[in-house]
Amino acid sequence: MNTTASVDLTIRDISAASPDGVCTTDLLTAPWDVDVSPGYGPGASMDDAIPAAAPRQGELPDEYRRASDDELDLRIRAAKQTLGDRVVVLGHFYQRDEVVQYADYVGDSFQLANAAKARTDAEAIVFCGVHFMAETADLLSGANQRVILPNLAAGCSMADMANIDQVEECWEQLAEVYGTEPDADGRVPVIPVTYMNSSAAIKGFCGRNGGIVCTSSNAETVLEWAFERGQRVLFFPDQHLGRNTAKHMGIPLEQMPLWNPARPLGGNTTEALNDARVLLWQGFCSVHKRFTVSQIEKARQDDPNVRVIVHPECPMEVVDAADEYGSTDYITKAIAAATEPTTFAIGTEINLVQRLAAEYPQHTIYCLDPIVCPCSTMYRIHPGYLAWVLESLVGGVVENRIEVSDDVAEPARIALERMLAAKPKA
Ligand code: SF4
Repeated sequence: MNTTASVDLTIRDISAASPDGVCTTDLLTAPWDVDVSPGYGPGASMDDAIPAAAPRQGELPDEYRRASDDELDLRIRAAKQTLGDRVVVLGHFYQRDEVVQYADYVGDSFQLANAAKARTDAEAIVFCGVHFMAETADLLSGANQRVILPNLAAGCSMADMANIDQVEECWEQLAEVYGTEPDADGRVPVIPVTYMNSSAAIKGFCGRNGGIVCTSSNAETVLEWAFERGQRVLFFPDQHLGRNTAKHMGIPLEQMPLWNPARPLGGNTTEALNDARVLLWQGFCSVHKRFTVSQIEKARQDDPNVRVIVHPECPMEVVDAADEYGSTDYITKAIAAATEPTTFAIGTEINLVQRLAAEYPQHTIYCLDPIVCPCSTMYRIHPGYLAWVLESLVGGVVENRIEVSDDVAEPARIALERMLAAKPKA
């Protein structure tokens, strides 16, 4: 687990760094101005359709919207000091530095949920990430702990691409095609597998239906677990993680049909479904979808010795063209382990790449995507919201609590426990 001790504390306004090199000049807009807009706001997922039921943030009190950066800094530090061990602030790897500087722990969503769980003294967990991450922290934390998302509009466009109604509808259709009886080896027709980047409702669905959760670090182990128990897998919401993992396990692309929830049978024939090993939900991460093979070719033209590492949420052809692929944890460890000065071209979110570049000045580390385009939903968390929720806590008020209902939490925890128990093959 990284802590603030290893975080670059430099505040950078990446949106202003190069006006021509950002995906949209709307990045200069304060989040409270875009919170009222119908979409996800400026950044990589701004073109994705936001579900009508996605949480909306109420208006941030004027005093926080008007406060200068220096004033917010003083107020956040003072509130944290007053609260002491009663609060723990978590910062996701993709969070902007202006917020990460206040985090007690920095990591990926699962590392952070476990960090919060271990801090049993903290009554409040302030999660500077996105909605599904706060839900996961609530699933794993103690009954006495309250999880807070500073801006309710910080969702995840990928997680929102698989809603529970669509998944239930898909499951009914699959039961009509495959039936529900196990085969001669006792393997059920389909095992549902959800990526950690999904709502608690989807994790609960997996728990109720013999399924499991995976992360980008353990997806292959989890798929092996699933194939021991099922004839095929329904993988959601990220088609790319599902495809890249299954392909690495030797499953042919023809046996990985895409499931489009807007079409009957997901847009597939019964024959194609009968031949399927992995059904890939048609979801994606708008940040990782931006990486291309031509960016890798350009990096190699510039430096034939460059080491290209991309995240498995990138499209298959990008993963195939890279030297290595792996989770944020893998990328971080690979850079930390390099003993000689190396040039790394990284295919993941810009804030993590910039932080790694600052942390390892002996290497040249840059983002494959030349356009600065952060995760627009993570970008919704601004120091103004952090100051608001922390000062509210000082006053005894819990704002923006994220709480998963018991009927969802119970099966969701089962799906998470199955993941923790899944072991790689010896
Ligand atoms: S980077 Fe992609 S998967 Fe991660 S929170 Fe943002 S939209 Fe969701």
